[in-house]
Amino acid sequence: MTVQKCADCDSDMELGFAPNLTHSGFVQLKWHKGEPEDSRFLGLKTGVKIDQRELVPMTAYRCTNCGLLKFYANPTGDE
Ligand SMILES: [Zn+2]
Repeated sequence: MTVQKCADCDSDMELGFAPNLTHSGFVQLKWHKGEPEDSRFLGLKTGVKIDQRELVPMTAYRCTNCGLLKFYANPTGDE
């Protein structure tokens, strides 16, 4: 694993991810290409439209000194 250095303060960065709370528990945050478009049912907004094939799991590095976040979206989970 490559050691990531912070672009702002050159300190070490630690690997993590952004948990997203859903009705069934926490899941890994995912990236989706394009701009969000409202999803509606009977005229009521129910969320945003999602193409499941476009979802890419996201990982994140956090600077242990200043807290800067650096996100990666890669299907294999590697940066
Ligand atoms: Zn930093």
